[in-house]
Amino acid sequence: MDIFWTGSGESPDIILKMQNPEVPTVEFLSRGPEQTRRLGQRLGAALQPGDVICLQGDLGAGKTTFVQGIAQGWGSRDPVSSPTFIIVNVYRNGDEKQLFHLDTYRLDSVWEAEELDLQSMQAQGPLLIEWPERMERLIPRERLWIKFEHVDQEERQMEMTSHGKHYDDLLDILRRATYGGD
Ligand code: ADP
Ligand code: MG
Repeated sequence: MDIFWTGSGESPDIILKMQNPEVPTVEFLSRGPEQTRRLGQRLGAALQPGDVICLQGDLGAGKTTFVQGIAQGWGSRDPVSSPTFIIVNVYRNGDEKQLFHLDTYRLDSVWEAEELDLQSMQAQGPLLIEWPERMERLIPRERLWIKFEHVDQEERQMEMTSHGKHYDDLLDILRRATYGGD
């Protein structure tokens, strides 16, 4: 069963599609980079240290664009770029708290990924991971997993699946912030 919410709330252009009420998956359709950033801002505003957000999708799917929004919503003015060559970027907000942005695209193996101390990063701030599938076994089971798909030049689909109660709640906050209550 497909349920569509369209044209409601303050974001009339984003389409929210929930495929199956039994599965904690919410799909968003973005019609441009600004919408993707705005959705990221809403998620970023709700993030806390320890939160793990996985961002899966091909090159150009919109992962880093979404992270730009997350960093803004979380309160950082630091410039966001894909940390493709240095693996981890750290952004700070006004309280000097840290937000970690990993991109494992250049990692040669999961062995290299083991060198990254995910646990200590996670203890200090939220953790955003691009190309998480390359190091999936190192990532905590409880997480929000977002799959980005290129629909056409300006459209991207984001399928968000929560793993664990905390992430069910986070996903619900995001859904409500975007579309209002039930
Ligand atoms: P990734 O990190 O997944 O490789 P980027 O966010 O770096 O992707 O790049 C996405 C590119 O696609 C950017 O040039 C962006 O302007 C463009 N784009 C077009 N439409 C969208 C959209 N709806 N959401 C996100 N990016 C989009
Ligand atoms: Mg990127």
